[in-house]
Amino acid sequence: MTRQVFTEDAYAQTCDAVVVAVSADGIELDQTVFYATSGGQPGDSGFLERADGSQIVITGVRYADGSKITILHEIEDGAALPDVGEKLIAHIDWERRHRLMRMHTACHLLSVALPLPITGAAVSETDSRIDFDMTETADKAELTAKLMELVEGNHSVFTRWITPDELAANPGLVKSKNVRPPTGVDRIRLVCIGDDAVVDSQPCGGTHVSETGEIGEIHIGKIEKKGRENRRMRIRFGPLPQ
Ligand SMILES: [Zn+2]
Repeated sequence: MTRQVFTEDAYAQTCDAVVVAVSADGIELDQTVFYATSGGQPGDSGFLERADGSQIVITGVRYADGSKITILHEIEDGAALPDVGEKLIAHIDWERRHRLMRMHTACHLLSVALPLPITGAAVSETDSRIDFDMTETADKAELTAKLMELVEGNHSVFTRWITPDELAANPGLVKSKNVRPPTGVDRIRLVCIGDDAVVDSQPCGGTHVSETGEIGEIHIGKIEKKGRENRRMRIRFGPLPQ
């Protein structure tokens, strides 16, 4: 089991770690700041710093098969391997992660600006896409203005833990049409926006900025038709091109 530092503190850029296991699949640490690919957010990049100052470059981060518990840090073929029990310092590429945090939080805002069922989503450091279950298209300028109002409102973003029973009693919290809330867990992480979650709350395990103002200027870049009842929207950084 890997202690997931990013769940408690999305702003942690480094952490001390001890190597728990090493295999062809990757390096397992006792704790990590590296977000593992899940929920539409890609894993972090970065490196592990050894006691002699040398670096082990991390090429991918994922959960071990079927688990949300053990995180594997993937490395290049032929890279030097650490020893089990070795102490390291884990460093993420913070510039990239912060862009992912801004983009990911922007996706939550779009689900507020456009409160329709979501059929898919993916975050990247340059743009994000969300697929909505909708038959009509939307106005890019109008949606961009709604998004920017939420950004400029500088609402706080925080997490709260609830029980599966509380989630079952509030099915409206789940906005993804095809994603079932996790089963077999004793608590679920809600990401809330605004005082008392007045703007939004939804289950999410990703990393987010702490205030919506930190997202900065964003716009709806492209709206594509993907099937009769599906529209794919892209969020990009910067102002809406004229
Ligand atoms: Zn999220």
